Amino acid sequence: MTPVDAELSRYFSDTYDEGRRKFLNACEHHGLIVESYLHPTQKGPFGETLSMDVAWCGPQDAEKVLVFSCGTHGLEAAPGAATILRWLDLDGPEQLPEGIAVLLIHAINPYGWAWAHRINEDGIDLNRNFPDRAKPPPSNPDYADVHKLLLNTSMNDEGLSDFAQGFQSLTSSIGMNAALTGITSGQFDFPDGLSFGGADLSWSGRTLFAIAQKHLILAKRILHIDWHTGIGKYGQAHFILDEPQTSETFSLLSEWWPNDAIHCDDVVDGVSIFYNGLLLEGLRAEIQKYSPAKIVNLTIEWGTYDVAKMLQALVMDNWLMHRTENADRALTDAVRAELIERFYPKSTEWRRSVIYTSDAIYTRAVAGIDSWGSN
Ligand SMILES: [Zn+2]
Repeated sequence: MTPVDAELSRYFSDTYDEGRRKFLNACEHHGLIVESYLHPTQKGPFGETLSMDVAWCGPQDAEKVLVFSCGTHGLEAAPGAATILRWLDLDGPEQLPEGIAVLLIHAINPYGWAWAHRINEDGIDLNRNFPDRAKPPPSNPDYADVHKLLLNTSMNDEGLSDFAQGFQSLTSSIGMNAALTGITSGQFDFPDGLSFGGADLSWSGRTLFAIAQKHLILAKRILHIDWHTGIGKYGQAHFILDEPQTSETFSLLSEWWPNDAIHCDDVVDGVSIFYNGLLLEGLRAEIQKYSPAKIVNLTIEWGTYDVAKMLQALVMDNWLMHRTENADRALTDAVRAELIERFYPKSTEWRRSVIYTSDAIYTRAVAGIDSWGSN
């Protein structure tokens, strides 16, 4: 094993349990107290405890708080968690400027990470689980056609390429915007479907709200970065903001990251769609019920494979959760391995790029929140 690989295995984990142990050990090493929010009903595949683990670095009464979270989409957690370990390894907590604290949230969807799903224990896409629940659920009439395609997709190369072709035909007939809205913007009518937002706020959602109420009540300025994978160029960071280019948040992020494009929900060039129930947006609205804090949210994706492959990956995840009843074990294992690869590539080059690129992102995040409001 080369020294580079050894260094990477320090940060990247093969399982949720390994990732959790690394996080708990690193926090202990830095004298950070971890609060564990144990999942009340679920365990991992080996009977292991599932938990959303939270660590606070810096003064309790800090007015500026940086939040780094990972694992909204289960198995996408591993690279985000690796960057958190790297930041701890580089003595990030010890080097925070005065008046700034960092809240680390490890494994928002521990079930998904442990069982290699992007969705949670209820088949919910947590990044669609946060609409305003005081209103009727958002409707997504473009989803029904996608659902028919989904139910007809068999889990082999031919089936998956038929799905891609079917989606292409749908795009030709209703337009790229409507087709992408159908498949990705979130739907609330088909619990066994893609991008399902859930009938209620999930355990992860309720837990996040409790964590925010406990830790963010004194903050006046909050920068929250949620780590994801699957959008953008291979091994590169792709910044996504859920607010328009005219927003103050967009200006701040552009100032803090002058060399990175801030994408406003344009997964495919030129197509910008509205998403229902985004996590960062929902959490921001919740915090604003009790706090006047200014909040900047940023989703950072690590790019993996192309859009067509990633849409197929959503289908694979759905199949593994809902449709494996009559499937043989070898097929299930093969689909799961491919799903993991699409969101968490094994490539050393990809993992090195994530780690080294993340160093500068953490540095810029700290510098950004430090400068915020002082000029
Ligand atoms: Zn994601």
